[in-house]
Amino acid sequence: MVEDQLVARGITDARVLDAMLHVPRHMFVDAALASHAYQDSSLPIGEGQTISQPYMVAKMSQLLNLEGHERVLEIGTGCGYQTAVLSRLCRRVYSIERIPSLSERARRNLRAARHANVMLTCADGTLGWKEYAPFDAVLAAAGGSEVPDAWIHQLRDGGVLVMPLGSGSSHVLIRLRKRGAEIIEERFDACTFVPLIAGRGA
Ligand code: SAH
Repeated sequence: MVEDQLVARGITDARVLDAMLHVPRHMFVDAALASHAYQDSSLPIGEGQTISQPYMVAKMSQLLNLEGHERVLEIGTGCGYQTAVLSRLCRRVYSIERIPSLSERARRNLRAARHANVMLTCADGTLGWKEYAPFDAVLAAAGGSEVPDAWIHQLRDGGVLVMPLGSGSSHVLIRLRKRGAEIIEERFDACTFVPLIAGRGA
């Protein structure tokens, strides 16, 4: 997976490659799908949601340029796989999931994989997590047509935000950098993500 899907497509950050090598992706999907865990695609995780393709997890992680000291806000915990990768790259991950059953499952997965520097909550991630702001980086694993104001407000000056931006299932990966009152935007890969939905799920 690391050589064929990541290095071959331009993932060069050695810390990201190391994290992708060490997080056991098969532990985050259903047992019935475990034999497909390392294939080049997203996979269903229940509730109509998906675990992102390995390349997308690596690409988004690389775009954050993490060094190890950061506090990162993640929106869309899903099964907790991206959370686990991030937790190896930064000091602490604060991850929000709107669907209670997925949030609980991510908690079990992350405990089993022994990732301790992670805080999870079940809430509407479009509001961010004010209590722990400001964050050095924000990563969203669900796509929306605009960047929620709360994420920009809760990003520290100099911080980086990565998300899929667009409508329907057609998105482009964007990176925003906050420099004082200025926001610098860059665009990367075209991609397909599940939608960012405001409000907590049932
Ligand atoms: N990185 C995850 C991908 C999960 S898919 C993984 O590795 O499994 C994206 C997730 O975003 C879904 O679980 C979906 O329920 C969640 N989501 C969508 N809108 C949300 C919101 N407003 N707040 C929190 N989570 C949200």
